[in-house]
Amino acid sequence: SQRCSASIFKASQLQVELCQTQRRKPGSGESLIFGKQFTDHMLTVEWSSEEGWGAPCIRPFGSLTLHPACSALHYGIELFEGLKAFRGKDQRVCLFRPWLNMDRMLRSTSRLCLPAFDTLELLECVRRLVEIDEQWVPSGKERKASLYIRPTFIGNESSLGVQPSTKALLYVILSPVGAYFSEESLTPVSLLADPRFVRAWIGGVGDCKLGGNYGPTVFVQQAAIREGCEQVLWLYGPDQLLTEIGTMNIFIFWTHKDGVLELVTPPLDGIILPGVIRRSLLDLARTWGEFRVSERSVSMSELLLALREKRVREIFGSGTACQVCPVHRILYQGEHLHIPTMENGPNLTLRFHKALCDIQVGAGGAGGGWSAAPPPQPQGFLGALTSHLLPSFPFRQYGDGSHEWMFPV
Ligand code: PMP
Repeated sequence: SQRCSASIFKASQLQVELCQTQRRKPGSGESLIFGKQFTDHMLTVEWSSEEGWGAPCIRPFGSLTLHPACSALHYGIELFEGLKAFRGKDQRVCLFRPWLNMDRMLRSTSRLCLPAFDTLELLECVRRLVEIDEQWVPSGKERKASLYIRPTFIGNESSLGVQPSTKALLYVILSPVGAYFSEESLTPVSLLADPRFVRAWIGGVGDCKLGGNYGPTVFVQQAAIREGCEQVLWLYGPDQLLTEIGTMNIFIFWTHKDGVLELVTPPLDGIILPGVIRRSLLDLARTWGEFRVSERSVSMSELLLALREKRVREIFGSGTACQVCPVHRILYQGEHLHIPTMENGPNLTLRFHKALCDIQVGAGGAGGGWSAAPPPQPQGFLGALTSHLLPSFPFRQYGDGSHEWMFPV
């Protein structure tokens, strides 16, 4: 029936309208400010409860027309994703583990009562978009410059009730971004840890990538800057658990109080955004098998004790923007705590940085030969609906069922 056929959108229905005049691309060597420049095209897909999903469209980049009562604007019925396309040493463009972003996007979608979609169909539409704007992907010479991909999904209800949207718009825009750090050195950041500010809470939505989680953090970020810090260390609860750093996951490399060398990051208990880089660092470290890898909460008092006993080696954040980011200072209760990350190399932070880079721009061919866990497969009804599509997508599958981390465009 009509309803059934529109319960997902398909990449095979893509309608492509190319722009007449291409905009000027940033020259190599030109510095790129994050998220200021956009490519020539964007992807849009409309949904309504009556018609279901419309056909996905790739069209010239341009403004949206929204009803002034639009539910995204009034109630924050908005979610987004952030991932990157890299140009490898072999000039091939690949996305880094995009299946994880698509999966996370579907979770955010369900939390906002927006309509489900097939993650692999969306990924194929994104691939086509990046392919069309391929010349905007910075060249591998500008090491680690990349194309940032911003999928966005908004409720587009044109009435003022707080209720599930009967209209929605999914769109994807692309922005060329520069390298965060120069090749061999990582610049450390300082953090404000003030328990009066809370980013996310049990029962809330901190584990979804909703716009509503981010707007209110600007105020706290400004407070950190006023205190002479660069980022916020988000604490949680009476034990003042360390949860995240700005818009990054947090990692501590230390000797745990039981005497074991350990890499620890907080568990995905509902207040942590399940970062793609977080997942990747855990996967890498577990593959290396050189130290214990734990997903466990760490409190401020545990950290203070470990600093006093000189057990802390490195603290760093992880996220798509910077990949990894070392921490050298935490301002807590008026006291500047020195974190000896830089004195310790930072060996592990740099090793992760290089390992990711080798995978992303390819130490030997796209993907650097890296493979790991297969991409998440759609489950249940949607899975049954789409599992027959899987073989048609261009990721290389190995005999052991694993897939490459890089998705070629
Ligand atoms: N935590 C928060 C709150 C974030 O916004 C992000 C960025 N998406 C991350 C962690 C890191 O996630 P990822 O590694 O997927 O970029």
